[in-house]
Amino acid sequence: MRFDDCLKQKLPLGDHPARDWRHRAIDLLMGDARRSADTHLIKPMFKGLSGISLYLKDESTHPTGSLKHRLARSLFLYGICNGWIGPQTTLVEASSGSTAVSEAYFAQLLGLKFIAVMPRSTSPQKVQAIAQFGGSCHFVDHAGAVYGVAEELAAQTGGHYLDQFTFAERATDWRGNNNIAQSIFDQMQAEADPVPDWVVMSAGTGGTSATIGRFIRYRNLATRLCVVDVEGSAFYEAWATGRRDITAEGSRIEGIGRPRVEPSFVPEVIDHMIRVPDAASIAAARVLSERLFRRVGGSTGTNFFGMLMIAAQMAREGQSGALVTLICDSGERYDGSYYNDAWLAERGIDIAPWRARIEAFLDCDQDL
Ligand SMILES: *Cc1c(COP(=O)(O)O)cnc(C)c1O
Repeated sequence: MRFDDCLKQKLPLGDHPARDWRHRAIDLLMGDARRSADTHLIKPMFKGLSGISLYLKDESTHPTGSLKHRLARSLFLYGICNGWIGPQTTLVEASSGSTAVSEAYFAQLLGLKFIAVMPRSTSPQKVQAIAQFGGSCHFVDHAGAVYGVAEELAAQTGGHYLDQFTFAERATDWRGNNNIAQSIFDQMQAEADPVPDWVVMSAGTGGTSATIGRFIRYRNLATRLCVVDVEGSAFYEAWATGRRDITAEGSRIEGIGRPRVEPSFVPEVIDHMIRVPDAASIAAARVLSERLFRRVGGSTGTNFFGMLMIAAQMAREGQSGALVTLICDSGERYDGSYYNDAWLAERGIDIAPWRARIEAFLDCDQDL
C-alpha cells in the first residue's frame, strides 16, 4: 500500500454503541460483586474430634443461593470481554439447575434473554427461581442430552451457548482476583492451622476443584486437594485411569457427578479422589443440617462425608490439623428429594446405618 492510500483509510471516531453497552454491562456485573461481602468460613465444633478442625466455606449465602453465583458472574464477564455477548444476545446454558438460576439472575440484570436446558428431574425450586428471574426452561429426559440441545438452541436463536462445562475452568482467574481459593486461604490466615492439610470438594463442572488445585500450586502451599465423586459419575474412573472418554449413567446428587468427563475437569491438579455412596452423602447432609440448624444440599453432604473420611484417617494416624470444604447450596432446594423419606424409600436408599456411623464419629470419638 502506498503512503497516500494508507492515509485515505476512514477511521471510526464517532459513536460506539457496542462499547457503551459493554461499559454498562461490566459496571453492572462488578456492582453485584461490590455489594456482596465475602462468604462465611464457619467452624462447627464436634465433641469426638480433637486436634482436627473442620471448616466449611458457606457458598449458599450468595444472592442466587449457591457457589454458581461466582461461576455465572465469571462466565458473563468472560463472554462480554471476549465479544461473544452483546446487547441482543440470547444466552443458552446446559445445567443441572444451580448454574442456570445464577445465570438467569445475571441475564435479567443485563436485560438479556436466557434459556436453560436441564434434565426433567431438576428440583422444582430451581425451575421456579429461573422463571422468577425471567429465564425460560427447556427440559430433556436424559442428563447427557443437555449439551447437544443447548448448542442447537443457541444456533437456532443466533445466541451464545455459555457452556459452563467447558469454560468454568478458564473463566475463573485461578491466580487470585478474589476467587474462592484465595478467599478460603485468606480467611484461614489467623487460624491455629492456617494452611489446611486438605481441601475437599466435589466436582460438577470441575471448575472449583481446578481453581483450588491450581491456586495451591501457584502459592506453593502444602495443602492437598481431595475431590469426592458420587455414584453414576465418570470423574473417578477418569482420574484413576487417565482416560477422558469414560461415560456413566448420571448422578442422583444434583450439581455433581457427570455422565461424561467434562472439559473443565482437571485431574492433573487433584491429589486424591474418594467415591462416596449416595446414602452416605444424604446421611451426611442431614447430620450436618441438624448441627448447623439449617439445611444443606446433597453435594454438601458428599463434601462433608469425604472430609470426615480424611479426618478419620488422620485420627487413626494420630495427626492433627485443619480440613476445609464447601457448603455448595442450601437444602431448601431439596425438600422433595434428599429430605423426603418417601423419595429415599422409592429408590431403596437406606441412610440409617451411615447416619449412625457419622454421629458416633462426630460425638463419641469412634472410628468412622
Ligand atoms: C456446581 C455444583 C457443585 C460443583 O462445583 P463445580 O465447580 O461445578 O465442580 C457442587 N454442588 C452444587 C450444588 C453445584 O451446583
